[in-house]
Amino acid sequence: PIQEAKLIWRNGKLVPWAEATTHVLTHGLHYGSGVFEGMRAYDARRKGVAIFRNREHIERLLFSAKVYKINIDYSAEDLMAACREVVRENGLKSAYIRPIAYLGYGEMGPASQACPTDVVIAAFPWGAYLGEEGLANGIDVCVSSWRRPAPGTIPAGVKAAGNYLSSRLVSMEAKDRGFAEGIGLSHDGTVSEGAGENLFVVLRERIITPPAASSILAGITRDTVMTLARALGYEVVEQPIPREMLYAADELFFTGTAAEVTPVRSVDRIPVGTGARPVTKKIQSAFFGLFTGETEDKWGWLDPVE
Ligand code: PMP
Repeated sequence: PIQEAKLIWRNGKLVPWAEATTHVLTHGLHYGSGVFEGMRAYDARRKGVAIFRNREHIERLLFSAKVYKINIDYSAEDLMAACREVVRENGLKSAYIRPIAYLGYGEMGPASQACPTDVVIAAFPWGAYLGEEGLANGIDVCVSSWRRPAPGTIPAGVKAAGNYLSSRLVSMEAKDRGFAEGIGLSHDGTVSEGAGENLFVVLRERIITPPAASSILAGITRDTVMTLARALGYEVVEQPIPREMLYAADELFFTGTAAEVTPVRSVDRIPVGTGARPVTKKIQSAFFGLFTGETEDKWGWLDPVE
């Protein structure tokens, strides 16, 4: 269950958690016409409670809204401030933040232009998505029988509510089969991403991740990890990954706001590499170091809520 906080930001005002409800004929509920973000606030020792890459998440939200012509009457600055406000006013020390903009109640039909847009931002505590155990020891995953949406269908690079039906199929199938998560293949059979995570392969000291054209959401954690890995001196390349490269990899890991940097220890019950994870460990410490202060935030990624 969700660990409830006190207040939710809705269309410019903070309202009690239980009152943040919507009509059953909300457009977004019927047609998936919502765009959202998932971001985290950390108790960053040096900066106090801070939102990680607030601007990039809000900019992606505005981009997603633009694609589906979901009008948002707030600027990026307004929405970033609202995210800080929700975390601050709920007194949260660390939080998962979920902004969503969806077409509300007013008219039926997928092409409706007459529905109002509701913009909502919730924040609540949420621990390691794939488990603390998974963060430390890696998780067991499978390749899904479900493909990710192909280019020219529902755009995978847009973070819209409807996309998560694909994630639901991939993830449910994996869990039913006893795995922690599933990896979706792209329309052409190359590796795409996890149900809610980007994927990285470490092979002979190179770090490889599928390009935007492989039906992925270009994750902000993915970008963070590419930046940190390059700063650590690694060669990072975006290139199509054939499925068998998953079984050849020395190391594999997932990235995502919820998943953070989670090692993958087996794919389809085939162990990844020797089980040693020197590169993943360095990347995990660089990543989590951003919040403890051990990694200098040279990029201005932390946005303090106070
Ligand atoms: N792919 C999908 C399908 C996702 O849902 C997410 C989580 N937002 C990611 C990748 C990772 O993106 P980010 O690092 O921006 O959270």
